[in-house]
Amino acid sequence: MTPFSYRCTDCGRQYSRDQVRYLCPECGKAYRPGIPLLGVLEAVFDYEAIRAQFNAARPDWNLFCPVEPQFHPPLPVGNTPLARVDRLASEYGLDRLWVKNDGLNPSGSLKDRASFLVVAEAARLGIDLVVAASTGNAASALAAVCASTDIKALIFVPEKAPKAKLVQMVLYGATVIPVKGTYDDAFRLSLEYTEARGGLNRNTAYHPLTIEGKKTAGLEIWAQCGQVPDAIFVSVGDGVILGGVHKAFVDLHRAGIIDRLPRLIGVQAESSDAIHRFCETGVYADAANPTTRADSISVTCPSNAYGARRAIQESAGLTLTVTDDEILRAQATLAARSGIFTEPAGATALAGLIKLQQSNRALPASARAVILATGNGLKDVEAPLSRIAIPPAIEARLESLPQ
Ligand SMILES: [Zn+2]
Repeated sequence: MTPFSYRCTDCGRQYSRDQVRYLCPECGKAYRPGIPLLGVLEAVFDYEAIRAQFNAARPDWNLFCPVEPQFHPPLPVGNTPLARVDRLASEYGLDRLWVKNDGLNPSGSLKDRASFLVVAEAARLGIDLVVAASTGNAASALAAVCASTDIKALIFVPEKAPKAKLVQMVLYGATVIPVKGTYDDAFRLSLEYTEARGGLNRNTAYHPLTIEGKKTAGLEIWAQCGQVPDAIFVSVGDGVILGGVHKAFVDLHRAGIIDRLPRLIGVQAESSDAIHRFCETGVYADAANPTTRADSISVTCPSNAYGARRAIQESAGLTLTVTDDEILRAQATLAARSGIFTEPAGATALAGLIKLQQSNRALPASARAVILATGNGLKDVEAPLSRIAIPPAIEARLESLPQ
Protein backbone atom coordinates (compact mmCIF):
# COMPACT_ATOMS: atom_id res chain seq x y z
CA MET A 1 0.00 0.00 0.00
CA THR A 2 1.08 3.58 -0.74
CA PRO A 3 -0.12 6.67 1.17
CA PHE A 4 -3.05 8.38 -0.55
CA SER A 5 -5.71 11.01 -0.05
CA TYR A 6 -9.10 11.51 -1.64
CA ARG A 7 -9.74 14.29 -4.15
CA CYS A 8 -13.18 15.40 -5.26
CA THR A 9 -13.52 14.95 -9.03
CA ASP A 10 -15.85 17.97 -9.16
CA CYS A 11 -14.35 20.68 -6.92
CA GLY A 12 -10.83 19.34 -6.37
CA ARG A 13 -10.96 19.54 -2.55
CA GLN A 14 -8.67 17.00 -0.88
CA TYR A 15 -9.45 14.89 2.15
CA SER A 16 -7.50 12.39 4.23
CA ARG A 17 -8.69 8.79 3.94
CA ASP A 18 -10.59 8.81 7.24
CA GLN A 19 -12.03 12.30 6.85
CA VAL A 20 -14.59 11.15 4.28
CA ARG A 21 -16.31 7.89 3.41
CA TYR A 22 -18.48 8.28 0.31
CA LEU A 23 -19.00 11.51 -1.68
CA CYS A 24 -17.30 14.92 -1.30
CA PRO A 25 -19.06 16.50 1.71
CA GLU A 26 -19.52 19.77 -0.22
CA CYS A 27 -20.49 18.62 -3.72
CA GLY A 28 -22.37 15.57 -2.43
CA LYS A 29 -24.87 17.88 -0.67
CA ALA A 30 -26.61 18.45 -3.99
CA TYR A 31 -26.88 14.72 -4.68
CA ARG A 32 -30.18 12.89 -4.41
CA PRO A 33 -30.95 9.35 -5.60
CA GLY A 34 -32.17 9.39 -9.21
CA ILE A 35 -29.50 11.72 -10.64
CA PRO A 36 -25.86 10.91 -11.56
CA LEU A 37 -23.56 11.08 -8.52
CA LEU A 38 -22.00 14.43 -7.64
CA GLY A 39 -18.71 14.77 -5.77
CA VAL A 40 -17.33 11.30 -6.59
CA LEU A 41 -13.99 10.90 -4.80
CA GLU A 42 -10.76 9.79 -6.45
CA ALA A 43 -7.83 8.19 -4.61
CA VAL A 44 -4.66 10.20 -5.27
CA PHE A 45 -1.49 8.33 -4.31
CA ASP A 46 2.03 9.38 -3.48
CA TYR A 47 3.18 8.68 -7.02
CA GLU A 48 6.84 9.42 -6.26
CA ALA A 49 6.75 6.62 -3.70
CA ILE A 50 5.21 4.24 -6.24
CA ARG A 51 7.78 5.17 -8.86
CA ALA A 52 10.63 4.53 -6.40
CA GLN A 53 9.42 1.03 -5.53
CA PHE A 54 7.78 -0.23 -8.73
CA ASN A 55 9.44 -3.05 -10.67
CA ALA A 56 7.85 -3.53 -14.08
CA ALA A 57 9.28 -7.04 -14.37
CA ARG A 58 7.50 -8.09 -11.19
CA PRO A 59 4.67 -5.59 -10.66
CA ASP A 60 3.42 -5.32 -7.09
CA TRP A 61 -0.18 -4.14 -7.43
CA ASN A 62 -0.38 -3.53 -3.69
CA LEU A 63 1.55 -0.31 -4.40
CA PHE A 64 -1.59 0.93 -6.21
CA CYS A 65 -4.01 -0.45 -3.63
CA PRO A 66 -5.66 1.88 -1.06
CA VAL A 67 -6.25 -0.82 1.60
CA GLU A 68 -3.45 -2.60 3.45
CA PRO A 69 -2.97 -6.29 2.48
CA GLN A 70 -3.63 -7.55 6.03
CA PHE A 71 -7.29 -6.52 5.60
CA HIS A 72 -7.78 -8.23 2.22
CA PRO A 73 -10.39 -11.02 2.11
CA PRO A 74 -8.99 -14.54 1.62
CA LEU A 75 -11.00 -15.18 -1.58
CA PRO A 76 -8.60 -14.63 -4.50
CA VAL A 77 -10.04 -12.16 -7.01
CA GLY A 78 -8.68 -10.89 -10.34
CA ASN A 79 -5.55 -12.10 -12.14
CA THR A 80 -7.85 -13.30 -14.90
CA PRO A 81 -6.33 -14.45 -18.21
CA LEU A 82 -5.80 -12.26 -21.26
CA ALA A 83 -6.52 -14.43 -24.30
CA ARG A 84 -5.14 -13.64 -27.74
CA VAL A 85 -7.94 -14.20 -30.24
CA ASP A 86 -6.32 -14.37 -33.67
CA ARG A 87 -9.33 -15.93 -35.41
CA LEU A 88 -11.38 -12.86 -34.51
CA ALA A 89 -8.60 -10.32 -35.14
CA SER A 90 -8.15 -11.12 -38.82
CA GLU A 91 -11.90 -11.13 -39.38
CA TYR A 92 -12.14 -7.51 -38.24
CA GLY A 93 -9.01 -6.16 -39.91
CA LEU A 94 -6.63 -6.30 -36.96
CA ASP A 95 -3.25 -8.01 -36.62
CA ARG A 96 -3.71 -8.60 -32.90
CA LEU A 97 -6.66 -8.66 -30.55
CA TRP A 98 -6.99 -9.78 -26.95
CA VAL A 99 -9.90 -10.60 -24.66
CA LYS A 100 -9.57 -10.00 -20.91
CA ASN A 101 -11.75 -12.80 -19.57
CA ASP A 102 -13.09 -11.39 -16.32
CA GLY A 103 -15.95 -13.88 -16.26
CA LEU A 104 -13.40 -16.18 -14.61
CA ASN A 105 -13.57 -14.27 -11.33
CA PRO A 106 -15.00 -16.29 -8.38
CA SER A 107 -18.61 -15.13 -8.74
CA GLY A 108 -18.28 -14.84 -12.51
CA SER A 109 -17.88 -11.10 -13.02
CA LEU A 110 -15.47 -8.18 -12.86
CA LYS A 111 -17.50 -6.78 -9.96
CA ASP A 112 -15.69 -9.15 -7.60
CA ARG A 113 -12.80 -6.69 -7.83
CA ALA A 114 -14.87 -3.82 -6.38
CA SER A 115 -16.45 -5.98 -3.69
CA PHE A 116 -13.04 -7.32 -2.66
CA LEU A 117 -11.75 -3.83 -1.92
CA VAL A 118 -14.88 -2.53 -0.17
CA VAL A 119 -14.97 -5.62 2.07
CA ALA A 120 -11.26 -5.06 2.81
CA GLU A 121 -12.11 -1.47 3.78
CA ALA A 122 -14.92 -2.69 6.04
CA ALA A 123 -12.40 -4.99 7.77
CA ARG A 124 -10.00 -2.06 8.23
CA LEU A 125 -12.75 0.08 9.74
CA GLY A 126 -13.99 -2.77 11.96
CA ILE A 127 -17.43 -2.73 10.28
CA ASP A 128 -19.13 -6.13 10.13
CA LEU A 129 -21.84 -5.37 7.54
CA VAL A 130 -21.62 -4.27 3.90
CA VAL A 131 -24.82 -3.03 2.25
CA ALA A 132 -25.66 -2.75 -1.45
CA ALA A 133 -28.58 -2.25 -3.81
CA SER A 134 -28.27 -4.38 -6.92
CA THR A 135 -30.14 -6.75 -9.17
CA GLY A 136 -27.27 -8.95 -10.23
CA ASN A 137 -23.53 -9.14 -10.56
CA ALA A 138 -22.54 -6.56 -7.94
CA ALA A 139 -24.69 -8.23 -5.32
CA SER A 140 -23.42 -11.72 -6.19
CA ALA A 141 -19.87 -10.42 -6.01
CA LEU A 142 -20.44 -8.83 -2.61
CA ALA A 143 -22.10 -11.98 -1.29
CA ALA A 144 -19.24 -14.18 -2.54
CA VAL A 145 -16.47 -12.03 -1.07
CA CYS A 146 -18.30 -11.66 2.26
CA ALA A 147 -18.76 -15.44 2.41
CA SER A 148 -14.99 -15.79 2.74
CA THR A 149 -14.91 -13.43 5.76
CA ASP A 150 -16.84 -12.75 8.98
CA ILE A 151 -18.43 -9.71 7.34
CA LYS A 152 -22.12 -9.97 6.42
CA ALA A 153 -23.73 -8.84 3.15
CA LEU A 154 -27.12 -7.10 3.11
CA ILE A 155 -28.61 -6.67 -0.34
CA PHE A 156 -31.68 -4.67 -1.38
CA VAL A 157 -33.18 -5.88 -4.65
CA PRO A 158 -36.18 -4.56 -6.59
CA GLU A 159 -39.06 -7.03 -6.13
CA LYS A 160 -39.16 -7.79 -9.85
CA ALA A 161 -35.49 -8.87 -9.95
CA PRO A 162 -35.15 -12.10 -11.97
CA LYS A 163 -35.09 -15.19 -9.73
CA ALA A 164 -31.98 -16.58 -11.42
CA LYS A 165 -30.06 -13.51 -10.33
CA LEU A 166 -30.93 -14.17 -6.68
CA VAL A 167 -29.69 -17.77 -6.56
CA GLN A 168 -26.01 -16.91 -6.25
CA MET A 169 -26.46 -14.26 -3.54
CA VAL A 170 -28.71 -16.48 -1.44
CA LEU A 171 -26.38 -19.49 -1.77
CA TYR A 172 -23.42 -17.35 -0.74
CA GLY A 173 -25.33 -16.57 2.44
CA ALA A 174 -26.24 -12.91 1.93
CA THR A 175 -29.36 -11.39 3.48
CA VAL A 176 -31.52 -10.49 0.48
CA ILE A 177 -34.37 -8.00 0.93
CA PRO A 178 -36.78 -7.56 -2.00
CA VAL A 179 -38.15 -4.00 -2.15
CA LYS A 180 -41.44 -2.94 -3.72
CA GLY A 181 -40.60 -0.56 -6.56
CA THR A 182 -37.71 -0.06 -8.95
CA TYR A 183 -33.94 -0.30 -8.63
CA ASP A 184 -33.92 3.42 -7.77
CA ASP A 185 -36.15 2.70 -4.76
CA ALA A 186 -33.87 -0.12 -3.61
CA PHE A 187 -30.84 2.16 -4.09
CA ARG A 188 -32.40 4.96 -2.03
CA LEU A 189 -33.41 2.57 0.74
CA SER A 190 -29.86 1.15 0.92
CA LEU A 191 -28.50 4.69 1.41
CA GLU A 192 -31.09 5.41 4.09
CA TYR A 193 -30.24 2.12 5.79
CA THR A 194 -26.50 2.78 6.11
CA GLU A 195 -27.16 6.36 7.23
CA ALA A 196 -29.63 5.36 9.95
CA ARG A 197 -28.42 1.92 11.03
CA GLY A 198 -24.77 1.64 9.99
CA GLY A 199 -22.82 -0.77 7.85
CA LEU A 200 -20.60 0.19 4.93
CA ASN A 201 -22.38 1.07 1.68
CA ARG A 202 -20.88 -0.61 -1.40
CA ASN A 203 -23.01 1.14 -4.01
CA THR A 204 -21.02 1.60 -7.14
CA ALA A 205 -19.05 4.88 -7.43
CA TYR A 206 -20.84 6.08 -4.27
CA HIS A 207 -18.09 4.25 -2.39
CA PRO A 208 -14.87 5.49 -4.03
CA LEU A 209 -13.10 2.17 -3.55
CA THR A 210 -15.44 0.48 -6.04
CA ILE A 211 -13.59 2.45 -8.75
CA GLU A 212 -10.21 1.54 -7.22
CA GLY A 213 -11.19 -2.14 -7.18
CA LYS A 214 -12.23 -2.13 -10.82
CA LYS A 215 -8.97 -0.35 -11.62
CA THR A 216 -7.09 -3.63 -11.09
CA ALA A 217 -8.50 -4.97 -14.39
CA GLY A 218 -6.71 -2.13 -16.21
CA LEU A 219 -3.45 -2.65 -14.33
CA GLU A 220 -3.48 -6.32 -15.28
CA ILE A 221 -4.25 -5.52 -18.94
CA TRP A 222 -1.18 -3.27 -19.07
CA ALA A 223 1.08 -5.93 -17.53
CA GLN A 224 -0.33 -8.77 -19.63
CA CYS A 225 -0.03 -6.82 -22.89
CA GLY A 226 3.53 -5.85 -22.00
CA GLN A 227 2.75 -2.28 -23.10
CA VAL A 228 -0.06 0.26 -23.30
CA PRO A 229 -2.67 -1.09 -25.74
CA ASP A 230 -3.94 1.34 -28.37
CA ALA A 231 -7.61 0.78 -27.59
CA ILE A 232 -9.66 -0.92 -24.89
CA PHE A 233 -13.32 -1.73 -25.62
CA VAL A 234 -15.50 -1.56 -22.50
CA SER A 235 -19.23 -2.14 -22.23
CA VAL A 236 -20.84 0.74 -20.35
CA GLY A 237 -23.82 0.78 -18.00
CA ASP A 238 -23.26 3.03 -14.99
CA GLY A 239 -19.77 3.95 -16.24
CA VAL A 240 -17.80 2.72 -13.24
CA ILE A 241 -15.84 -0.03 -15.02
CA LEU A 242 -14.91 2.51 -17.69
CA GLY A 243 -13.81 4.94 -14.97
CA GLY A 244 -11.88 2.20 -13.17
CA VAL A 245 -9.97 1.05 -16.26
CA HIS A 246 -9.11 4.68 -17.04
CA LYS A 247 -7.89 5.25 -13.47
CA ALA A 248 -5.45 2.32 -13.86
CA PHE A 249 -3.68 4.03 -16.73
CA VAL A 250 -3.91 7.46 -15.10
CA ASP A 251 -2.15 6.03 -12.03
CA LEU A 252 0.54 4.33 -14.15
CA HIS A 253 1.01 7.59 -16.04
CA ARG A 254 1.20 9.76 -12.93
CA ALA A 255 3.81 7.38 -11.50
CA GLY A 256 5.89 7.84 -14.66
CA ILE A 257 5.62 4.16 -15.60
CA ILE A 258 3.86 4.76 -18.95
CA ASP A 259 3.95 7.75 -21.27
CA ARG A 260 0.51 7.60 -22.87
CA LEU A 261 -3.05 6.49 -22.20
CA PRO A 262 -5.00 3.89 -24.21
CA ARG A 263 -8.07 5.11 -26.09
CA LEU A 264 -11.17 3.93 -24.29
CA ILE A 265 -14.05 2.88 -26.51
CA GLY A 266 -17.24 2.85 -24.44
CA VAL A 267 -20.01 0.69 -25.90
CA GLN A 268 -23.61 1.00 -24.75
CA ALA A 269 -26.79 -0.85 -25.62
CA GLU A 270 -29.00 1.29 -27.85
CA SER A 271 -31.83 1.57 -25.30
CA SER A 272 -29.45 2.31 -22.40
CA ASP A 273 -27.41 5.09 -23.99
CA ALA A 274 -27.34 7.95 -21.46
CA ILE A 275 -23.53 8.13 -21.32
CA HIS A 276 -23.16 7.88 -25.12
CA ARG A 277 -25.54 10.80 -25.64
CA PHE A 278 -23.84 12.76 -22.86
CA CYS A 279 -20.45 12.27 -24.57
CA GLU A 280 -21.83 13.20 -27.98
CA THR A 281 -23.85 16.27 -26.98
CA GLY A 282 -22.40 17.45 -23.65
CA VAL A 283 -25.94 17.50 -22.23
CA TYR A 284 -26.95 14.84 -19.72
CA ALA A 285 -30.37 13.14 -19.91
CA ASP A 286 -31.52 9.77 -18.51
CA ALA A 287 -32.03 6.83 -20.85
CA ALA A 288 -35.73 6.88 -21.67
CA ASN A 289 -36.52 3.18 -21.64
CA PRO A 290 -33.64 0.75 -21.03
CA THR A 291 -34.90 -2.63 -22.23
CA THR A 292 -31.69 -4.34 -23.34
CA ARG A 293 -31.09 -8.08 -22.88
CA ALA A 294 -27.64 -7.07 -21.64
CA ASP A 295 -29.19 -6.55 -18.20
CA SER A 296 -25.88 -5.77 -16.44
CA ILE A 297 -25.60 -2.55 -18.46
CA SER A 298 -29.31 -1.67 -18.49
CA VAL A 299 -29.36 1.66 -16.65
CA THR A 300 -31.72 4.63 -16.63
CA CYS A 301 -29.45 7.00 -14.72
CA PRO A 302 -25.75 6.01 -14.76
CA SER A 303 -24.19 6.76 -11.38
CA ASN A 304 -20.78 7.60 -12.86
CA ALA A 305 -21.95 9.58 -15.90
CA TYR A 306 -19.57 12.49 -15.24
CA GLY A 307 -16.57 10.25 -14.56
CA ALA A 308 -17.24 8.15 -17.65
CA ARG A 309 -17.42 11.21 -19.89
CA ARG A 310 -14.15 12.49 -18.40
CA ALA A 311 -12.49 9.10 -19.07
CA ILE A 312 -13.58 9.17 -22.71
CA GLN A 313 -12.37 12.75 -23.16
CA GLU A 314 -9.03 12.34 -21.38
CA SER A 315 -8.21 9.17 -23.31
CA ALA A 316 -9.21 10.67 -26.69
CA GLY A 317 -11.67 7.81 -26.89
CA LEU A 318 -15.20 7.58 -28.19
CA THR A 319 -18.54 5.96 -27.45
CA LEU A 320 -20.98 4.10 -29.65
CA THR A 321 -24.16 2.12 -29.29
CA VAL A 322 -25.16 -1.33 -30.55
CA THR A 323 -28.48 -3.11 -30.87
CA ASP A 324 -29.46 -6.21 -28.88
CA ASP A 325 -29.24 -8.19 -32.10
CA GLU A 326 -25.64 -7.04 -32.59
CA ILE A 327 -24.85 -7.90 -28.95
CA LEU A 328 -26.20 -11.44 -29.18
CA ARG A 329 -24.50 -12.03 -32.52
CA ALA A 330 -21.19 -10.85 -31.00
CA GLN A 331 -21.73 -13.18 -28.04
CA ALA A 332 -22.12 -16.14 -30.41
CA THR A 333 -19.16 -15.05 -32.53
CA LEU A 334 -16.87 -14.74 -29.51
CA ALA A 335 -17.91 -18.14 -28.16
CA ALA A 336 -17.49 -19.91 -31.51
CA ARG A 337 -14.19 -18.25 -32.48
CA SER A 338 -12.37 -18.07 -29.16
CA GLY A 339 -13.90 -20.49 -26.64
CA ILE A 340 -14.89 -17.58 -24.38
CA PHE A 341 -18.55 -17.51 -23.31
CA THR A 342 -19.34 -14.07 -21.93
CA GLU A 343 -22.70 -12.66 -20.85
CA PRO A 344 -24.48 -10.21 -23.18
CA ALA A 345 -23.04 -7.20 -21.33
CA GLY A 346 -19.50 -8.53 -21.90
CA ALA A 347 -20.21 -9.24 -25.58
CA THR A 348 -21.37 -5.63 -25.99
CA ALA A 349 -17.70 -4.59 -26.09
CA LEU A 350 -17.03 -6.92 -29.04
CA ALA A 351 -20.20 -5.76 -30.77
CA GLY A 352 -18.77 -2.23 -30.52
CA LEU A 353 -15.46 -3.32 -32.01
CA ILE A 354 -17.23 -5.03 -34.94
CA LYS A 355 -19.31 -1.91 -35.58
CA LEU A 356 -16.29 0.40 -35.37
CA GLN A 357 -14.24 -1.76 -37.74
CA GLN A 358 -17.02 -1.61 -40.30
CA SER A 359 -17.17 2.20 -40.13
CA ASN A 360 -14.95 4.99 -41.42
CA ARG A 361 -13.49 5.31 -37.92
CA ALA A 362 -11.97 1.77 -38.03
CA LEU A 363 -8.75 1.16 -36.12
CA PRO A 364 -5.71 0.47 -38.35
CA ALA A 365 -4.54 -3.16 -38.66
CA SER A 366 -1.51 -2.40 -36.51
CA ALA A 367 -3.62 -1.25 -33.53
CA ARG A 368 -3.35 -3.35 -30.39
CA ALA A 369 -6.90 -3.71 -29.11
CA VAL A 370 -8.31 -5.34 -25.99
CA ILE A 371 -11.91 -6.39 -25.35
CA LEU A 372 -12.96 -6.47 -21.72
CA ALA A 373 -15.36 -9.41 -21.23
CA THR A 374 -16.93 -8.40 -17.93
CA GLY A 375 -19.05 -11.41 -16.97
CA ASN A 376 -19.53 -15.14 -17.48
CA GLY A 377 -22.04 -16.32 -20.09
CA LEU A 378 -23.37 -19.00 -17.74
CA LYS A 379 -24.95 -16.23 -15.64
CA ASP A 380 -27.68 -15.75 -18.22
CA VAL A 381 -28.25 -18.62 -20.65
CA GLU A 382 -31.77 -17.43 -21.46
CA ALA A 383 -30.56 -14.65 -23.75
CA PRO A 384 -28.60 -16.84 -26.23
CA LEU A 385 -31.08 -19.71 -25.85
CA SER A 386 -33.64 -17.70 -27.80
CA ARG A 387 -31.33 -17.71 -30.83
CA ILE A 388 -30.01 -21.26 -31.03
CA ALA A 389 -31.60 -24.63 -31.73
CA ILE A 390 -30.68 -27.61 -29.55
CA PRO A 391 -30.96 -30.71 -31.80
CA PRO A 392 -33.61 -33.30 -30.92
CA ALA A 393 -32.52 -36.62 -29.36
CA ILE A 394 -31.87 -39.64 -31.59
CA GLU A 395 -32.21 -43.37 -30.95
CA ALA A 396 -28.94 -44.69 -29.51
CA ARG A 397 -28.01 -46.50 -32.72
CA LEU A 398 -25.36 -45.53 -35.25
CA GLU A 399 -27.92 -45.86 -38.05
CA SER A 400 -29.88 -42.97 -36.51
CA LEU A 401 -27.01 -40.61 -37.35
CA PRO A 402 -26.78 -38.96 -40.76
CA GLN A 403 -24.03 -40.43 -42.96
ZN1 LIG B 1 -16.34 18.49 -4.14
